[in-house]
Amino acid sequence: MKKHRMATPGPTYVPQEILLAGAQELIHHRSPHMEEIMEEVNEGLPVLFGTEQKVFTMLSSGTGAMEAAVANCFQEQDKVLVVSNGYFGERFADIARVYGVEPIEIVSPWGTSVDILQVEEAYFNNPEVKGILVVYSETSTGVTNDIERIGQFFQDKDVLVVVDAISGLLSHELQMDNWGIDVVLAASHKGFMMPPGLAFVSISEKAWTRLEKIKAKTYYFSFKRFKKFYPMSPSSPGVSLIFALRASINMLMREGLKECYQRHQLIAEATQKGLESLGFELFVCDPVRRSNTVTTALAPQGLDTSRLLKILSSEYGMTVTGGQGEFKGKMIRVGHIGSVDFLDLFSVFGAIELALSEMGVSFTKGASTVAIQDIKLRGVYDVDFIST
Ligand SMILES: *Cc1c(COP(=O)(O)O)cnc(C)c1O
Repeated sequence: MKKHRMATPGPTYVPQEILLAGAQELIHHRSPHMEEIMEEVNEGLPVLFGTEQKVFTMLSSGTGAMEAAVANCFQEQDKVLVVSNGYFGERFADIARVYGVEPIEIVSPWGTSVDILQVEEAYFNNPEVKGILVVYSETSTGVTNDIERIGQFFQDKDVLVVVDAISGLLSHELQMDNWGIDVVLAASHKGFMMPPGLAFVSISEKAWTRLEKIKAKTYYFSFKRFKKFYPMSPSSPGVSLIFALRASINMLMREGLKECYQRHQLIAEATQKGLESLGFELFVCDPVRRSNTVTTALAPQGLDTSRLLKILSSEYGMTVTGGQGEFKGKMIRVGHIGSVDFLDLFSVFGAIELALSEMGVSFTKGASTVAIQDIKLRGVYDVDFIST
């Protein structure tokens, strides 16, 4: 028998409480019962986003939310700044081009966080820009961008700050209102610990002022339609996923947001130490900007990570992802977003050590277990089980 385990930054492990909620018998999506559920969910979501605004739930994966944001907030020939320091930042620029919006890319090397001075300079050189698109936690590189400072810089300017927080929400603090962020995007199969299928968007008053004047080139994803039909959704909602969402919000509230961020941070730290103990080199040098969603590391010289990942998956049922682009075969990305606890880490690293032994790599056996225990035993956090 082989168990399947995912140490991936989305999709994530889905706790039984959420799975079973989604398995309930369907109800009609325009019924008083559904309205009650939508109201409950709509009350919980803004707390997670740190906003007083509404949060709309869409039936799509995360990319749908990115596309919706571009289609609703900008018009053809608008210019927008795009922070490009990873795969998802590049995707934002690609989506902009599809809608005839001109991206001006602020490029920062993979593994680094964008420098706020670079952002300010890009704005001063292009004061006509209508927005800035930025990824909070770049899942491809394991780095976070300082969206708090970016939000504050643009707060008093006619520039919409659109944040892809798809993997950053719930693993990191995010205060949409206080940080001056105009559009926040999220998706169900990341911090929500849900199956894929739902995306979320929240929109500031500043953004609404702009949106109301724009004829968006989208019907299904029209934010105006979402607003009009609120608290219900404009088209058929994913009823089963909404049931699961209600369970997810309940679990998150039971743990507490602060506790949730703190757990993610400690698990991230333990993962970093675990990888270093086995001779991997952390890809993100600045410890403050390392993602709590995923840890990226370069393999010791000569180690083929593609082979390592293959052994992990075929022999141990453990899915860990590799590097993208030029880092394919050289990098591993260990995901730890969602309901991950310390004991999960022991299984991930146990499998990694076993695979390394099989590959004949020299390392100190048990080193990662010791490294993880050292973080755990600091005793600052003792709520490991969020589902009880
Ligand atoms: C997962 C993810 C997305 C969206 O990917 P989908 O496969 O469309 O859900 C977008 N941005 C980031 C940073 C992500 O981690």
